[in-house]
Amino acid sequence: MSKRDEAWLQGILDKIWDNYFPEVQQVNDVRIVFGRRTKRRLGSISLHPSDCKTSVITMNGLFRREDVPEFVVEATIFHELTHYAHGFNSPLEQAQAHPHAGGVMRREFAERGLLELYLQQKRWLKANWLDVLTQEFPAKPRAGVRKTARTIAIKPFWFIGD
Ligand SMILES: [Zn+2]
Repeated sequence: MSKRDEAWLQGILDKIWDNYFPEVQQVNDVRIVFGRRTKRRLGSISLHPSDCKTSVITMNGLFRREDVPEFVVEATIFHELTHYAHGFNSPLEQAQAHPHAGGVMRREFAERGLLELYLQQKRWLKANWLDVLTQEFPAKPRAGVRKTARTIAIKPFWFIGD
């Protein structure tokens, strides 16, 4: 039985790096941690602001849930590692002006043989993410508003930002 701790994340990161980014040099410390449970961000990567010695990949705390498939976690780590490889929040040379410019993420998955993983993650999020959020963040009934209309704004927020 796998336990979803940071060693587990580190194992997935190592596997993805070794198998899919073999030519990408690790030029500083790269750590991976669980962050808060959030609605709008699957993951992010940051660089220590003063010395550039450490890049930290922060994963949504909701990924501790066993019902979030491992491929969703893998695709998120792949996404953040792509930013690292492209020089965003890593000491490597920046590959393009914007981290998500012109379909660059999809292309990176495709070129490294993981287009199916990219699509799988997208499909799973579309079908299930809202349910996860509804369980984790129950809508608070507002005074004077009937409880029947419980909605969370649906936007493809997981493809933007981070
Ligand atoms: Zn991103």
